Amino acid sequence: MNRHPVVLIPGDGIGPEVTAAVQRILKAVDAPIEWVEHVAGLAAIERGRDGLPAETLDAIRTHAVALKGPCTTPIGEGFVSINVRLRKELDLYAAVRPVRNLDGVPTRYQGVDLVIVRENTEGLYSGIEATLAPGVVTTTKVATEKACSRIARWAFRYARQRGRKKITVFHKANIMKLTDGMFMRCARAVHDQEFPEVDYQELIIDAGCMALVQDPTRFDLLLLENLYGDVLSDLCAAFVGGLGVVPGANIGDHGAVFEAVHGSAPDIAGRDLANPLALLMSAVMLLNHLAETRRDEACAAAAQRIKDGYNHALAEGCKTRDLGGTLGTREFADAVVARLS
Ligand code: ATP
Repeated sequence: MNRHPVVLIPGDGIGPEVTAAVQRILKAVDAPIEWVEHVAGLAAIERGRDGLPAETLDAIRTHAVALKGPCTTPIGEGFVSINVRLRKELDLYAAVRPVRNLDGVPTRYQGVDLVIVRENTEGLYSGIEATLAPGVVTTTKVATEKACSRIARWAFRYARQRGRKKITVFHKANIMKLTDGMFMRCARAVHDQEFPEVDYQELIIDAGCMALVQDPTRFDLLLLENLYGDVLSDLCAAFVGGLGVVPGANIGDHGAVFEAVHGSAPDIAGRDLANPLALLMSAVMLLNHLAETRRDEACAAAAQRIKDGYNHALAEGCKTRDLGGTLGTREFADAVVARLS
């Protein structure tokens, strides 16, 4: 069998636990991949290395696909986010995060099926901060026509390929007329000139958030600049059961890194409490990506078996604590493995 080399970055916090669970399940279906393990984040720093070692970046460039556990980002001080550096270094400009209700996970909402497409390279994540005077600091929001147009084009292309009917842009262009104005105008131009068959809507973000919480089923694909995409990802996760069930991919023109939306969750790290589903669902996205880009049916078949396995487990009430169950990380992985076809 042809095995695809895939870079694996376990990360830190709950990363190693959820990664081990996912590796176990992929092994149980004999997914046609071969892990190429590399470090990043605290795991690298603790070994006296840079947080994003050159070998790790090179390996992702070589193999073009990676599965990544969360890497802690220090708050308020310390090193630059490894996650942000990785996305920028590899120009993984599109973050895609499907948010869907799972049959076995009842929530206040039903029928939620939306996709967040987040611009990953600029906005307020540009890291341009300055102290103007003692007690006066600034941060710079960057928007370029190139990045705004390419994320819009990526989102519309995705919508066309996947049969998504409507794209909504959330913005605050009434206040940030230049930056959010640019994001909105580029999206509008891409829609009008290249994808007129996809419905297109613009909402001021505050009103948009209210409409979203009132009825998330009215939304199909949300196209968001970097910070709004970050915040709305966690908000939307709450519609379907929380951060434990939302997967993601960071995609560029030359590679893709799959990772859960959640961070390293230090409060529950090392206690066998974390839900591995979000990373498992990210691995399913990875297998489907390989199936599409390398035309390998075996990857699609493995993805489907895993999906059926976790859906059965959830339907039978096998859940981790974040979903109201009692299982630990390892027990949940056991439950999925026991239900694989
Ligand atoms: P970051 O800012 O690093 O991206 P975040 O805002 O996504 O992180 P996390 O630390 O991932 O925040 O998650 C917030 C809380 O959600 C955690 O402290 C934890 O209690 C819960 N949580 C996150 N991921 C999981 C998971 N996989 N399983 C169970 N609980 C989780």
